[in-house]
Amino acid sequence: MQAWHKEFTRLLLLYSSVSLIGGIAGLLLPSLLVLTSALLIAQFLQVRRFEKWISGGGKGQYPKTSGIWEDLYYHIYRIKKNEKRRKKKLRKLIEQFRQSTEALPDAAVVLRPHDEIEWANKAARQMLGLQQTDKGQRIPNLIRFPEFIRYLKSGNYSEPVILPSPVNNRNALEVRIISYGSGLRLLLAQDVTQLKKMQTIRKDFVANVSHELRTPLTVLKGYLETMQDMDDGVSPLLTTSFKEMLGQTERMQHLVDDLLLLTRLETQQKKQQCIDIPALLSQICKEGDTLENASRRIELTLESPAHIFGEEQDLRSAFTNLLGNALKYSPEDSLVQVRWRQIGDELVLEVEDHGEGIAAADISRVTERFYRVEAKRRKKVPGTGLGLAIVKHALMRHDAELHISSELGQGSCFSCHFPIKRICYS
Ligand code: ADP
Repeated sequence: MQAWHKEFTRLLLLYSSVSLIGGIAGLLLPSLLVLTSALLIAQFLQVRRFEKWISGGGKGQYPKTSGIWEDLYYHIYRIKKNEKRRKKKLRKLIEQFRQSTEALPDAAVVLRPHDEIEWANKAARQMLGLQQTDKGQRIPNLIRFPEFIRYLKSGNYSEPVILPSPVNNRNALEVRIISYGSGLRLLLAQDVTQLKKMQTIRKDFVANVSHELRTPLTVLKGYLETMQDMDDGVSPLLTTSFKEMLGQTERMQHLVDDLLLLTRLETQQKKQQCIDIPALLSQICKEGDTLENASRRIELTLESPAHIFGEEQDLRSAFTNLLGNALKYSPEDSLVQVRWRQIGDELVLEVEDHGEGIAAADISRVTERFYRVEAKRRKKVPGTGLGLAIVKHALMRHDAELHISSELGQGSCFSCHFPIKRICYS
């Protein structure tokens, strides 16, 4: 504002003095014309000088000038200087980021919208066998595992995928993709060879121990049953002891069976075929009605005739566990509803009871192995704590999910959601 003020005063003074001298000399108009032309030429020269300086990048010190032009030069010079400082800071930050990502033990690759590699860190070059020269190459041309290509194309990156390492197929990598920015994705890969090994050792151990326990338990149960048959009822202590020992042996047998089933679900892939779900459910409900207390009523509603491509034994275990729980954890005279229907693009099995319900804090934990809710019940409810873990694993093998909604004292609804792609016709 100050510079404009000065410039204006300077022009006013110039025009007033020229008008005065021109007026005295009787040449007012020509002298004003000469002054205006001179000022225009001077401004033109300034503009030219400015254009020359700015087109050269506005580098270095600006040309010596005065008045409003000096202010203009100074402002631009200051903006440029700040920009330079900011750029330097940004470059330093990028360099620090590059150094830290280079030092990361996990592989990191930035992918462009069409799967081209934008950038990869050192670990990515070592773990995934990528080269510095692979920038711009499409990653599916370099990592060709079908499961990786399927994962990349799916666009659903909520879960990671496990792959053999392209460099050494004895190593396992956990690959995860994270979308960010406009169409960019970050691919992260972590070596999980050791973890996988530990998991295999654990599974083998549980499977072996369970298997080894089976025979002694059968022998024990056999002898206990014989001894119970021989019991003449003279000693009440002996009678209750036999009953208790048999009960505990049966409990252990259930536990061993459930553990073996879980291990099988985790490790072995059985041949899948088209399963008539309405028929399977009718059978399970019939068995449930006869097995459980007669006063109970299972209400089966078959809204969909859909069959599912899967493994019958696994689905039977999952559905039986859900129905068994609904019957176990609800009053003996309450209704248990089983529904098979299509909701949108999913096929859903719902098992709903009006029993004790599950507290919100426990819902997320009930599918964990051996997790049992400590509820105050009139009668002790037998169980291994493995039923829902079996359901979860069996469903996972069918690309299905278990949803639980429950309210304490009101009841629970366990629903199995199968994707429509699992429908089949037999
Ligand atoms: P369990 O052998 O104990 O039934 P599960 O894994 O089947 O083992 O279930 C885990 C826990 O979840 C159970 O101990 C019970 O507390 C709770 N639960 C399962 N189903 C129901 C249900 N329908 N209603 C209330 N609680 C349930």
